[in-house]
Amino acid sequence: MAQLAQVIVDVPTMQTNRPYTYQVPTRLENQVQLGMRVVVPFGNGKRQVQGFVVGLDQPTKYSGQLKAIDALMDLQPVIGDELLSLSKWLADQTYAFWISSIYTMLPNMLKAKSTRVVKIIDEVDEQVAFDVFHGKDELDFATVQSNPQIVSLLLKLQRQGKVRFEYVVADKAKTKTTVGIRPQLNFEELEEARTSLHANAHAQNRLLSYLQSIVGKTVKQVDAEKVSGIKAATFNIGVQKGWLTKVPIEVYRTPLGQESLPDDHHLAKPLTLNDEQRAAADKIEQAIDDSQSRVFLLEGVTGSGKTEVYLQSIAKALQNHKTALMLVPEISLTPQIVNRVRRRFGSKVAVLHSGLSDGERFDEWRRINRGEAQVVVGARSAIFAPLTNIGVIILDEEHESSYKQDEAPRYHAREVAKWRGEYNDAPVVLGSATPSLESRARAMKGVYQLLQLKHRVNKRPLPPIKVLDMRPEIKERGESNFSRELLTKLTDRLAKNEQSILMLNRRGFSSFMMCRDCGEVLKCPNCDISLTLHMDSHTMKCHYCGHEEPIPRFCPHCGSREIRYYGTGTEKVERELNSLIPQARIIRMDVDTTRRKGMHEKLLRQFGHHQADILLGTQMIAKGLDFPNVTLVGVLNADTGLGLPDFRSSERTFDLLSQVSGRAGRADKKGEVIIQTYNPDHYAIQFAQRNDYEGFFKREMALRHQASYPPYYFTVRLMASHEDEAVAARAMAQIKEQLTKSLMPSTIILGPTPRAIARMKRRYYYQIVIKYKQDQHLHSILQKILQETQSKGKNDVQISIDPDPQYFM
Ligand code: ADP
Ligand code: ZN
Ligand code: ZN
Repeated sequence: MAQLAQVIVDVPTMQTNRPYTYQVPTRLENQVQLGMRVVVPFGNGKRQVQGFVVGLDQPTKYSGQLKAIDALMDLQPVIGDELLSLSKWLADQTYAFWISSIYTMLPNMLKAKSTRVVKIIDEVDEQVAFDVFHGKDELDFATVQSNPQIVSLLLKLQRQGKVRFEYVVADKAKTKTTVGIRPQLNFEELEEARTSLHANAHAQNRLLSYLQSIVGKTVKQVDAEKVSGIKAATFNIGVQKGWLTKVPIEVYRTPLGQESLPDDHHLAKPLTLNDEQRAAADKIEQAIDDSQSRVFLLEGVTGSGKTEVYLQSIAKALQNHKTALMLVPEISLTPQIVNRVRRRFGSKVAVLHSGLSDGERFDEWRRINRGEAQVVVGARSAIFAPLTNIGVIILDEEHESSYKQDEAPRYHAREVAKWRGEYNDAPVVLGSATPSLESRARAMKGVYQLLQLKHRVNKRPLPPIKVLDMRPEIKERGESNFSRELLTKLTDRLAKNEQSILMLNRRGFSSFMMCRDCGEVLKCPNCDISLTLHMDSHTMKCHYCGHEEPIPRFCPHCGSREIRYYGTGTEKVERELNSLIPQARIIRMDVDTTRRKGMHEKLLRQFGHHQADILLGTQMIAKGLDFPNVTLVGVLNADTGLGLPDFRSSERTFDLLSQVSGRAGRADKKGEVIIQTYNPDHYAIQFAQRNDYEGFFKREMALRHQASYPPYYFTVRLMASHEDEAVAARAMAQIKEQLTKSLMPSTIILGPTPRAIARMKRRYYYQIVIKYKQDQHLHSILQKILQETQSKGKNDVQISIDPDPQYFM
C-alpha cells in the first residue's frame, strides 16, 4: 500500500499546469500535509524542483513507476485550505498558472532557489577529490563556474561517468536568530566551579554569579551583556569550561517604525461617531455579527470619517474573536494611516507593503500565519494574508487601479476580497470618495449595499475650487507652469506661515527631447516610446525597458543644434518655482526622490514638521495625506491624462482632482484649490470643480452606455507579442477568426490593432479587446487559445490574457 500525493511543481508552463502524482515514501508518511512544500524529482530525473502538495489520496495498491517525494521543506503547511482553494480559483479566473498563483500569495522567501551541484558518483582521483571537491562528495557549481579549467575538468569527469550534474532545491526561508545563552550546570554546580576559581579571576567569578541568576532560562547574549556588564570573550570562556551553552533564539525582523508601537495600555480610544458614521457602522457591524458575506460600498467625501468607520468595524470583528484585513493603495500606505491603525490596535497589527525587505515581509507573514497578528494592513498583495477566521475585509480607495496586478496572475484585489468574504462568511467594505463606475453601478442595482457619508466631520465645508484657464496666460506671458493667480496665492501662504501642496499630473506624460528643426523625438531603440530626461543622472532613460543614454547635443536625425526638451517634469517645475519664489522652501516628491527605502516617510515627516512651505509632487501626494496647516492645493496641469487612448481617462482625471482637492483645509483653517488647465470646459474638470460625483457618474455612465464599455459590458484584452511584427499580427488575426466563430453574436470583438505602445523591449504587440455581457463560451475558448499557443514552444508568439484590464495602452 502506497500513499500518494498530488503535487504542483515549480515549472511554470501550460503543459505542467496540473498536479502530478508522487509516492509518499514510508519515512514521510504521517508527516506530509496539504499545503506543504516538498522537493520532488522532475522530468528526466536529474532535476529536483520545489512543489506544493495540493492533494493527498487514500493509500492505494497502485505503486507502478511513480517517482517518490525526496524531502519535505516544511514542518507546517505554508498554505492553508482557504488559500489553497483560492489559488486554484485565481489561476482559472486570470488565465495564469496554478504555481504562479501560489507564489503570488507567499512571501518571496518561500520561493525555491535551485542550485546546480556536481556529485561524485564514482571514484575520482585523490587530487581532484581534494583540490576541487575539498574532500566532500559534492560541489556547488556556482562557486567554480567562472573557472574554465575546473569546468572543463568537470565536464570530462562527467563524460567518464564519474560525476553527475544535478539541480537541487535550496530553501531560502531563513529565520533570523540571535545568540542566546543558557547555563549548563545547576546552581550548586556553578557554585562549586566558583569556589575552585583562581582568586583574581574576577570576570569569570562575575559570569558564574550571573549564570546562577538565570538557571533554567535562555537569555539573549546582547541582553545578558547589558545587564551583567560581562564581555563577550568571558562568555566564550564559559562555553569552553562547559558552564554555559549558546543556542539560537528566533527573532522577528522589525519593519521600520514598529519599535515605537504603543503598549496595550496606551492605545487610542475610538471616537464617538456622528449620525452618518453611526448609521453606516451599524449596518457593517450587524453583518459582522450575523456572519453575512455581503458587500458594502461606503461612499464618503474626503474627510467624512470613513477611516474611523473602518477602525470600528475592525474592532467589532476582534470583539467577536475574528480577524480583519484592511487594504489601502500602495501610494496611500503612508505612515499616517498605518499609525492610526497601530495606535488603535497595537501589537495585533501586521503591516505588509512593498517597502519591506524580503526578511521583514517573511517575518510579518509568519506573525500572521501563527495567529500572533489579527489585523493586517497592506497594499494589494496583502489580500492573500494568511489570516484565518476573517470577520471583515476593507478596501479603502476601492476605485484605485493599482488594486489590479498588471502582470500574471492578473487579479483584482476587489474580486479576491469578495471571494474571501464569501469563504469566511464575512462582509466586504469598499470605501471611496469617488467609487469606480463598476462598483457604483452595482450598488445602484442593489448587488452591493450603498452607505453614504455626505458631510465632512464637524461639517467643515469642502474647499472652494477654482478652474484656471492657462491658454490666455501662456499667450500673454510665454511658457510657464504657474499662472499669476497661483503665484500670488503661494506667496500669500508664505506670508501667513501656512503650507501648500502642488501636484503635477504626470500620467503618460514626461519630459522628452524634440528637435525644433525637424520635429524628431528622441526614442528608445528597443521600445516605441520617447525617452525621458533625468537631470539627476544627466541621461535619457526609457521607463519601459531601462535603456539609458547621454543627453544628445545635436539632433541624431538632421544634426541641428536646436534640440530641446519639452514637457514638464517635477525637477523642471522645482527649478522654475525656485526662481519665481526664491524664499520658499520646497520638498519634491516623485519616484526619483522616494526610491530609497524610508525616504517617502522622511519627506512627509519633514513637511509635517513644517520644514518646508511647499510639497511638490506627482500623483503620489494626492492620497491620504492629512496636514492641518495646508490651506492651498494647486494642480499644475489637470488635463495631461485626458488625451490618453483609454476609456477610463475621464474617470481617472475626475478621481485625481477630487482626491487632491481633499488635501486642503482639513483642519480649522480654510482651504482653497486652484486647478490649472487647457481644457476648462471638459466635463471631468467641471464636475470635479463642483465636487459633484453624482453628476459625473450620470454623465460618464451615459457615455459608457453609448460606447458599450464597462460597467455595461465586461472586457478582456488579449495580447500577442513577437520580435517579428508580421508574426504577431498574423497570430492575432487567426485568433480573431477563432473567436468570431465561437463567441455569441452579442459579443463585440475589437482589433487586432497594434498596441498604443506598439513596440516594447524589442517585441511588437498586437491586441484584441473583447466586450461582452454574458458569453458562456468565452472562458473555455480563451483557455483553449492559451493552451494551444503555449504548447508551440518558446520561440513563438507569446499570448497574454487580461480579464477586466485597467489600462488599454
Ligand atoms: P476619510 O477617511 O473619510 O477621509 P478620516 O477618517 O480621515 O476621513 O477623518 C477625517 C478627520 O476627522 C480625521 O482627522 C479624524 O480623526 C476625524 N474624525 C473622524 N471621525 C470623527 C468623529 N466621529 N469625531 C471626531 N473626529 C472625527
Ligand atoms: Zn532634427
Ligand atoms: Zn525601452
